[in-house]
Amino acid sequence: MQISKRQLLKSGAVLMAGITFIPFNALADGHADHQFGTNSGKITVHPISHASIVLETPAGVIYVDPVGDAAQYASHPKPDLVLVTHQHGDHYNAETLAAIVGENTKLITNPAVFEMLPAALKENASQLAIGGTIDFAGAQIDAIPAYNTTEGRKNFHPEGRDNGYVLSIDGTRIYISGDTEDIPEMRALQNIDIAFICMNLPFTMDINAAASAVAEFKPKYVYPYHYRGRDDGTQDPKEFAKLVGEMATVKFGNWYG
Ligand code: ZN
Ligand code: ZN
Repeated sequence: MQISKRQLLKSGAVLMAGITFIPFNALADGHADHQFGTNSGKITVHPISHASIVLETPAGVIYVDPVGDAAQYASHPKPDLVLVTHQHGDHYNAETLAAIVGENTKLITNPAVFEMLPAALKENASQLAIGGTIDFAGAQIDAIPAYNTTEGRKNFHPEGRDNGYVLSIDGTRIYISGDTEDIPEMRALQNIDIAFICMNLPFTMDINAAASAVAEFKPKYVYPYHYRGRDDGTQDPKEFAKLVGEMATVKFGNWYG
């Protein structure tokens, strides 16, 4: 369904180049706070847990780093595409994948995870190395680097191994950071509409580094995610939002319900 600019203006929507946030009361299916208009349809964000995301998009249903009990996904449509960023247990779980990857599901992983996949999953899988691009149902999937830069932490996510992703769907661009610090490749991103940014020490970065990166690449909307852990303020999404201020609209998901 196409929503006209006039209808959106009447409903009080915020219009921005390339993306429209569909506000409360415009849509009544309970997900209004996490729906975004594209040129030809809408994207609905379902924060599942920690690093796991379900995205309903005009290009199909996309799961990112699905782990944990497969029952968490039972109320969502089956995935057309599953993206895995890297091998850590909060991002990659072969049992979860086996439960949710169907005959017609495409699985895209970084090369290191591809090598670990059980044979049955490998049949549905493609590896995407950093810098690589895959077309999926008209959506473009780019693999972006994700790594630690701080001495003493580089072994968590060594440069060159793990992926972040940028999805370009009907003119809307979504960035999923994976586990990374505020690397130059993140800061250089352009035209990102929705960004999912990790923040927890010592494995990724703190809210100061995350907010500083956001200030530089200026996504329109940013979801803090992957922030379970310390209780010392270094990864508090509300504090992150204060640091981001007017630079982007911060969206809160119920990641740890
Ligand atoms: Zn990790
Ligand atoms: Zn992680």
